[in-house]
Amino acid sequence: MHSVVEDIPLVPSSIGTRRQVTVHRFGVGHSGPKIYFQAGLHADELPGMVVLSHLVKLLQEREGEPNGEIIIVPCANPIGLSQRIQGYHAGRADLGLGGNFNRNFPDLTPLVGVQLEALRSEGLAMNREAVKRAMLKAVSALVPKNELDSLKQVLLTLAIDADFVLDVHCADEAVLYAYVSNPEHSAADLLSRYIGSVATIGGVPELTDFPTACLLPWRAAQEIIPDVPITECLSATLEYRGSKGLRDDVAVEDARGLIGFMEAVGLLKGATQPPSQVVTCHTTLDCVDYVRANAPGIVIFSKTPGDHVQAGEEIGTILDPASGDRSSLKASASGVIFGYLYSQVVIPGGTVAWIAGNSPIEQQTGDPFP
Ligand SMILES: [Zn+2]
Repeated sequence: MHSVVEDIPLVPSSIGTRRQVTVHRFGVGHSGPKIYFQAGLHADELPGMVVLSHLVKLLQEREGEPNGEIIIVPCANPIGLSQRIQGYHAGRADLGLGGNFNRNFPDLTPLVGVQLEALRSEGLAMNREAVKRAMLKAVSALVPKNELDSLKQVLLTLAIDADFVLDVHCADEAVLYAYVSNPEHSAADLLSRYIGSVATIGGVPELTDFPTACLLPWRAAQEIIPDVPITECLSATLEYRGSKGLRDDVAVEDARGLIGFMEAVGLLKGATQPPSQVVTCHTTLDCVDYVRANAPGIVIFSKTPGDHVQAGEEIGTILDPASGDRSSLKASASGVIFGYLYSQVVIPGGTVAWIAGNSPIEQQTGDPFP
């Protein structure tokens, strides 16, 4: 399959430096659906970058052309990739003033509204294509003040008009799971099955991460033109297990799962049967128990990701090694543990484990992963 590689420069952060985002494009200019993949927005989450690297290679080796457009950004965050503290890589948050790299993406909904009204006044038919055009214009109207703004604008420019936006991450230690912003989307279940998601959590978070920033403009556009049904993008975060123990054979299979999904939604020829052996726990954000530390110390788990637990059951302890005291960590929800911190010193209030429950629970305030 033919691909085009493009290096998109970012606004420099200091004199004498210029970083770039490398994008692989397949099916450039093809009509049909568009899918967008990125990995490494949290630049210390390596499995996704390996998976997308394999995906690029598998597609390049494949015969034929896609029935649409495939955009792949294996390293979405060259800023985070470059950060070191005392020799250790630190890629989750901007060491400047930007905070968590996957937060505070611009809310494009007001700009999309303005652009859509402008297109309507020009006499353009109000339909899905007009919405895509308005969204692209809205992103191009952003004025980046710094390198991080510039990175966010570049990524949104590549993704905003895609029919499928798949942002690839991982946890410290976890099963394969996914956050799907709109689980009611017709392709959402296929996605869970093809990637082999053990837990799929539906719902839009109350923060502007990348998938949310890509989804909300579709909903704003639908409110502006309520008479025309607009199929919004499928927007999801794919969490490829834990950050440790990278293996090429696993990553290749994960990439093949993404190819299977693209076949299933018609982007690639040769549809396969969806995998049936995967048992996915489907739940929603309000049912997720983000277990928080109740004391400082070293967290030691007695359960592992994938284990089923009952509400009130102990999942581990926090050890104060100086005194020998231990604090019990208990589940608030009955469900499956889908991820936890990897051998860490914890502070009170920090999220240490996450459980996909089967009924709504009272949520603690604050971002569980700031
Ligand atoms: Zn992440």
